[in-house]
Amino acid sequence: MKDKFSRDINYMRISVTNRCNMRCNYCMPDVVKNLCEKEILTDEEIISTVRAAVQCGIVKFKITGGEPLLRPKITELIYKLKKISGVESLSMTTNGVLLAESINELKNSGLDAVNISLDSLDTQRFEKITGFNFLNKVLDGIDAAISSGIHTKINTVLQKEINDDEWEKILLIAKENPVYVRFIELMPIGEGKNFFGISNAKILNEIRKKYQGIKTDSYVHGNGPAVYIKIPGFFGGVGFISAMCGKFCSSCNRLRLTAQGKLKPCLSFSDYLDVREILRSSEKNLIQIKLENLIKKAIEMKPREHCFETPVKNSETLRMFEIGG
Ligand code: SAM
Ligand code: SF4
Repeated sequence: MKDKFSRDINYMRISVTNRCNMRCNYCMPDVVKNLCEKEILTDEEIISTVRAAVQCGIVKFKITGGEPLLRPKITELIYKLKKISGVESLSMTTNGVLLAESINELKNSGLDAVNISLDSLDTQRFEKITGFNFLNKVLDGIDAAISSGIHTKINTVLQKEINDDEWEKILLIAKENPVYVRFIELMPIGEGKNFFGISNAKILNEIRKKYQGIKTDSYVHGNGPAVYIKIPGFFGGVGFISAMCGKFCSSCNRLRLTAQGKLKPCLSFSDYLDVREILRSSEKNLIQIKLENLIKKAIEMKPREHCFETPVKNSETLRMFEIGG
């Protein structure tokens, strides 16, 4: 379905938990109260929401969190979601810590792709950023994903004077492997407001200085606004998600559903519609139609653009682990 700015809204990010087994400095503070089970949408509630979303023209879905692999029976949920008629693609964003042990089951359940977050290849630095000494587990997860043949992307957030010198080492993963390494600009959401990101324009400039013959890759590799390049001699590709320096709101195609059932039209504003209330307080035979109407309303509510560059207008108070990225 088109929104009022003629954008085709065909993608929904679904957070399935706000729990996490890491504490990335720009995402989740040390002390966080986990949502109690009753607050979180059940598998059946997520499935009903996806069924309704498909009726509104949403065909691509991303499972996120918190850390989605912490949700009990996540592979069963993936299996059921992928079976819904009209779901064209189902992918997951994960920190990779538990991926090695679950990738085969996830793939067999119908998962089409994984995005794995990786901000450093240095053990101590990784621990400084994420709070945990899990680098090897994440690298095992990346290896396992590649070996399984699932479509794999690596997402890296660079922070000034913390890991901004690592772009090249991380980029080289795409030289040797059939993966896409993507640089995501730090956004001023939640904890992210307290840290300084690096402009992707700067990184692209550095890459151009270092490598000759770079070509823009216009093929659409994922669900959203990443811009890709091909570097000669690289097996994989490189992408840039530039919410700050390359504001891409004119091609925004998404809604976000939090683990508590808040349906968000835009990342930077606190407005939401309550899916959970409909699911839990409507007559059973009316739920589907009410959900469809709510999703259509959320699409209609989408603003023209985010306002990250004007912090006072940025009304969202949820943190990224609560929204799902
Ligand atoms: N735990 C999973 C993971 O780390 O991939 C999924 C949830 S996490 C919120 C999803 C993505 O959001 C991660 O790639 C993370 O780096 C990114 N992220 C978190 N806070 C951010 C911020 N303030 N700006 C940009 N990206 C952010
Ligand atoms: Fe957890 Fe992902 Fe946030 Fe890191 S970015 S704290 S892994 S939810």
